Amino acid sequence: MSLIKENIEVIKKEIETICLERNREPKDVTLIAVTKTVDIERIKEAIDAGITNIGENRVQEIMDKYEDLKNYANFHLIGHLQSNKVKYIIDKVKLIHSVDSMKLIDEINKRAEKSNTIVNMLIQVNVAREDTKFGIDINEVDDYIEYASKFDNIKVQGLMTIAPYFEDAEKTRPIFRTLKEKFDELSNNKYNNVEMKYLSMGMTNDYKIAIEEGSNMVRIGTKIFGKRVYNSNL
Ligand SMILES: *Cc1c(COP(=O)(O)O)cnc(C)c1O
Repeated sequence: MSLIKENIEVIKKEIETICLERNREPKDVTLIAVTKTVDIERIKEAIDAGITNIGENRVQEIMDKYEDLKNYANFHLIGHLQSNKVKYIIDKVKLIHSVDSMKLIDEINKRAEKSNTIVNMLIQVNVAREDTKFGIDINEVDDYIEYASKFDNIKVQGLMTIAPYFEDAEKTRPIFRTLKEKFDELSNNKYNNVEMKYLSMGMTNDYKIAIEEGSNMVRIGTKIFGKRVYNSNL
């Protein structure tokens, strides 16, 4: 078995164990393979091992890989998105995880309308209020949901966060718990074009804790493909 396949099997097994302990359905947790810096050949190995969702953090990389992979996997944009680049990916991504400004909501809706489509998005929340990370403050989430609910060509499908890196992943737990509470609170409200369906949290270092705290979408790169090698040609 290839190493990539082996890694995916291990992760799937872990997701299953955590879910069964908590009376949740393993299939309700979506595993997104984060493929930034990973070449097409290795991504195809992951697809052969059952991966159907891949995450990229740069618009350019989605454009470069789209034709080769569009028939095999759904693309997720998980990195910061500049308004002026929305047009390049509007018809290529299944879900934008990183919506972090009202201006970006305006632009996504405008481009979606032009393409005669509806674009799914998550609001990125900087729960830990780290200066180095994108995302809105948790206190702004209600305003964003209300704002987004007024547009017809977008659908807010949930929330996303990136926890700070801690050697001891246990320290991320309160962050995930806080966002899950917000997610549940919003799930009780009825807004147009808003459905709290996905809670995207958890990466290589902390996905087990994230799932324990209610994540249903994990974004994993290193544990599947190994340490990333940044190549200036990519
Ligand atoms: C790179 C990246 C990941 C994956 O990180 P790993 O630690 O390699 O699993 C997840 N989410 C986002 C937003 C990323 O940029």
